[in-house]
Amino acid sequence: MPLHRNTLTVAAGYDAAEHHGAIKPPLYATSTFAYQSAQHAKDVHDRYFRTAPAKDKADPAYIYARLDHPNMAMLQARLAQLDGAEDAAVFNCGMATINAVTQAFLRPNDSVLHTKPIYGGTDGLLYSHLTQFGITPFAITDALDADAIRSAAQAACAHGRLGLVMVETPANPTSGIADIALISGIAAEIGARQRHKPLVMVDNTFLGPFQQNPLAHGADLCMTSLTKYAGGHSDLLAGGVSGAAGPIHTLKQLRTLLGSHLDAHTSWMVLRSLETMHLRTERAGQNARAIAEFLRTHPAVASVNYVGFVEPGSRANTVFSRQCRGAGSTFTFKIHAGEAAAFRMLDRLRVLHMAVSLGGTETLICHPATTTHFNVPAARRLDVGIDENSLRISVGIEHVGDLIDDLRQALDAI
Ligand SMILES: *Cc1c(COP(=O)(O)O)cnc(C)c1O
Repeated sequence: MPLHRNTLTVAAGYDAAEHHGAIKPPLYATSTFAYQSAQHAKDVHDRYFRTAPAKDKADPAYIYARLDHPNMAMLQARLAQLDGAEDAAVFNCGMATINAVTQAFLRPNDSVLHTKPIYGGTDGLLYSHLTQFGITPFAITDALDADAIRSAAQAACAHGRLGLVMVETPANPTSGIADIALISGIAAEIGARQRHKPLVMVDNTFLGPFQQNPLAHGADLCMTSLTKYAGGHSDLLAGGVSGAAGPIHTLKQLRTLLGSHLDAHTSWMVLRSLETMHLRTERAGQNARAIAEFLRTHPAVASVNYVGFVEPGSRANTVFSRQCRGAGSTFTFKIHAGEAAAFRMLDRLRVLHMAVSLGGTETLICHPATTTHFNVPAARRLDVGIDENSLRISVGIEHVGDLIDDLRQALDAI
């Protein structure tokens, strides 16, 4: 009988019998691993470099911590199970993960299809860095509409081989939904036509494995910034990607060259944090719904962009119900009165903290136009709905009454 995710998250990837019976994972603070003999050294290298290393429990055969180490292996095994994947690779942050995916699967002059808006770091990678290799990004205008996806794909294919499809759903900060199964189906059609299947990578950071499983809907790779809800305490940076053994093996081999592995201590911290992720995301989700509902009724608030408010009967709602088991706890809302009023309100907050990032136990709020999107030209910022009235909140696990009281006193003063 397959175990539930809530059970897997406590134990998957770790067997006490392999570690002197320690009920919790020891921290392997070592850079290198001793060989048992010269022949063993040769065998271990053969296994690492020539075959996808099927882990031999009796001899896990570690070589050097940049290649692989026990704490990283435990985390990868647990993440793979939570994402419903054959394997996973972890990296020292979410952007290192996305960088590895683009370097592994894109070639010069390829095109990339992506949903819009996409995370700022990914946007920068696609529009400011990869362009120098002739790689050209193409945005999908409506990620719920087959015609819109096909026409963007057609433009991409007219430019060059379509190498990668990058999907982010729900999107930050618009809360837009992308249909993963529809996009994956169209990617498969293109694959048959151009004789190269473009991999579909979904950035699952906003919902995470307990609320959304992109691989079950046809995506090839599920990427997560583990810095956010998985780490969950705003005290580390990490990233991961799950999928079939083949592409994950490719990514692990490349990671060795890039030097972007996750260190032992951080791997150990993320493994531990995963044990409570379902509880934290559940409570944060409940708090977020209550706060979104409060904000919707406050006269100083113009609109609330919360995924849970997706319009009943809409296509977005159909896809949301099929794909997601929760609405997450990060969303954007707008006030009526402009930047000065937004700043006054922010400066009055006593319980909420003003900072970028999301997914921690504490509630964070920021003014995207002057922080997360400071460097994005105004036209592109407005195109994704961020103006001087926009505020982004990442709801934590505090008592929701304290959060609402704090927001109320600050909004009342506008
Ligand atoms: C934060 C974030 C990333 C990047 O992750 P880092 O760990 O900060 O490198 C990627 N995608 C999304 C949606 C994010 O929120």
